[in-house]
Amino acid sequence: MQPFNFSGGPGALPETVLEQLSASIHRVEGQELSILGISHRSEWFRQVVDEAESLLRTLLGLRPSHRVVFLQGGATAQFAMVPLMFRNRPGIPDYLQTGYWSAKAVGEARRLTNLHVAWNGQDTGYDRLPGPSEASLRPDASYLHYVSNETVEGLRFHHLPGFSHVPRVCDMSSDFCSEPIRASDFDILYAHAQKNLGPAGVTVAIVEERLLEGVPDDLPSVLDYRPNIQAGSIYNTPPVFAIYATLLVLRWLHRDIGGLESMQQINRRKAQTLYDALARLDDTYVIHPRPQDRSPMNVVFNLRRKDRLPDFFEHARSAGLHGLDGHRSIGGIRASLYNAVSQPAVDALVDFLEGSRERFR
Ligand code: PMP
Repeated sequence: MQPFNFSGGPGALPETVLEQLSASIHRVEGQELSILGISHRSEWFRQVVDEAESLLRTLLGLRPSHRVVFLQGGATAQFAMVPLMFRNRPGIPDYLQTGYWSAKAVGEARRLTNLHVAWNGQDTGYDRLPGPSEASLRPDASYLHYVSNETVEGLRFHHLPGFSHVPRVCDMSSDFCSEPIRASDFDILYAHAQKNLGPAGVTVAIVEERLLEGVPDDLPSVLDYRPNIQAGSIYNTPPVFAIYATLLVLRWLHRDIGGLESMQQINRRKAQTLYDALARLDDTYVIHPRPQDRSPMNVVFNLRRKDRLPDFFEHARSAGLHGLDGHRSIGGIRASLYNAVSQPAVDALVDFLEGSRERFR
């Protein structure tokens, strides 16, 4: 049986992209060299970065004052770069602590700044998000930080939190480019690649130009957006392979899928298929988050009989369904339905869940 990949990240990439990447190991398009041995200072690579930026601008509808930069250090480095950038500004930031990853962001920011946790979902095991007026957000906060899609718990914001005049900073690592956004709502957006965009090693940050003015001058340069932006993402040696893979995924999104509206339709159908099936089979499976906060990207659920989990994973693997293990912090099952996970993959998962209902009940 064809293997299907539901890994939480690094996750599935489009087949056509994998084929092009495979060929590029020997000789990359239009060049005599392997992608693994081509200089980051070559004109070819400059064009790769420029095209990737331009496709992101088109897909997301960025405004000219949004600066796009490809960085290293993963989303975790952004947890530090953001508070460092705001260090000289008056006021302290608001953070929404809605799951494993936003808690990590809070922990890292606390090393660098005072902050205010405006909502904390820890007490209910991060099974829900705050409603539009539930968080104690402050109009004089220096910025608001939140995670749009909590990868571990399978929570997704379906409304836009915060005040329009408070800089809104969003970690979109696990739902970036899964559907259209209103780019003007965001002052800083960041996402590592290893979900919807490409392999691990590169992180995209989109920063509103106006915010770069007050950045302290004594930051280490790799942790300062400005030199990285000024050098067009080639400040030091960038992850050439990961950026090239990202370009191929962006071309696929733009040309093959037809943009983020089409991607959204495909993703909605996949999520609906799986959530509907889990609701039908609720004597066997239980979904982690409450209905209104569920993520279309990460479907987090469990067996009612948790003692059957090892058997579940073993059978799933032998049915060609991989990467279903929940995050180590909460266990259970997680099916990640990133952009490159196809409807047939989701249908195969639903067939498996239905077919093995008796066994795991
Ligand atoms: N934020 C979110 C939403 C994530 O899902 C992850 C990792 N899966 C991170 C941050 C951390 O990313 P990294 O490992 O690239 O530092």
